[in-house]
Amino acid sequence: MIQESVVDLRSDTVTQPTAAMRRAMAEAPVGDDAYGEDPTVNALERRTAELFERDAALFVPSGTMANQIAIKIFVLPGQDVICEEQAHIYQFELGMMAAFSGALARPVSAAWGILDWARIRPYIRAAAAGAGRTGLIELENTANLGGGTVYPQDVTDQICEGAREAGVPVFLDGARIFNAAVALGVSPVAITRKFDALMFSLSKGLGAPVGSMLLGSRHFIAEARQIRKMLGGAMRQAGGLAAAGLVALDEGPPRLYIDHEHARQLAAGLAEIPGLGIDLASVQTNIVMLDPTGSGLSAREFAERLATRRVLVKAIAENTVRMVTHCDVDHAGCERALRVAREVVGSVVPPLQQS
Ligand SMILES: *Cc1c(COP(=O)(O)O)cnc(C)c1O
Repeated sequence: MIQESVVDLRSDTVTQPTAAMRRAMAEAPVGDDAYGEDPTVNALERRTAELFERDAALFVPSGTMANQIAIKIFVLPGQDVICEEQAHIYQFELGMMAAFSGALARPVSAAWGILDWARIRPYIRAAAAGAGRTGLIELENTANLGGGTVYPQDVTDQICEGAREAGVPVFLDGARIFNAAVALGVSPVAITRKFDALMFSLSKGLGAPVGSMLLGSRHFIAEARQIRKMLGGAMRQAGGLAAAGLVALDEGPPRLYIDHEHARQLAAGLAEIPGLGIDLASVQTNIVMLDPTGSGLSAREFAERLATRRVLVKAIAENTVRMVTHCDVDHAGCERALRVAREVVGSVVPPLQQS
């Protein structure tokens, strides 16, 4: 029997480079980027800056490094960073904002990870005797742990305008900003224009093997280049990676709507399985959040049982499983994931009723 291939829904980072990417990587002209001499890295930085209508851009090895460079630039030691409670910078970056920048996270919780100005405003602290100071507001679009939810543009505009009046910069963790733009049917520049600086990932839905881009003013990017060096993130002949990034910018955005369709396909199918809890309204891009506990399985047990049938999902909390669609999962793969989820839930022996 031919073994069925793995359907890997753990993250959109798991994709293989496409044929065009591998070709471009092999053929890319390269130079030493620490000297600013890699033509392909320079081309990627120029192209990205143009696309987002910014002064300058910087190629960095990861989204985490992009976020931490930005925090280092904007925030003085001891200052607050306001972010949503489920934000990547707060949940997944191992306390680096404190370790590296001396920043104090001020997490604010919001339904599905989507903040608004009314929620943020009370947390802003101006320099007054005895009070701390807010150094930065950070937003995430799409909100990863929020389920890939999208900020309505008027909400981000209002936050950026309020913050400007308060004299606080706003940074966008736009790891999946192209997913947000596709969901809203607008250009990425329209929903990022008002932010002081931003980053996005090449290595998530856009399908590149490695890399993120940081964008901002000329001065911000010059500072960022220095801090990237401090962190050991200045790569040498990185043009091979940048070449894949350039292809990702061509190939990625036009096909993201397919990933969103697949996420809706998964969500609709899962919603019909008794015992699985899902909020269909939160399925706005390529992420599906699922509560399997009504089936008698914890998130970890559910994920383990799917994995034995070659469907990989991620238990991200006691009662939450995350599934992410991407260019290496097709309609048939999603159908198989649904079939396996049905089998797994159907095979749970119900616990004896307490008398
Ligand atoms: C993945 C992710 C990052 C970090 O990117 P890495 O390249 O994995 O370091 C940052 N923010 C969000 C919202 C992400 O989903």
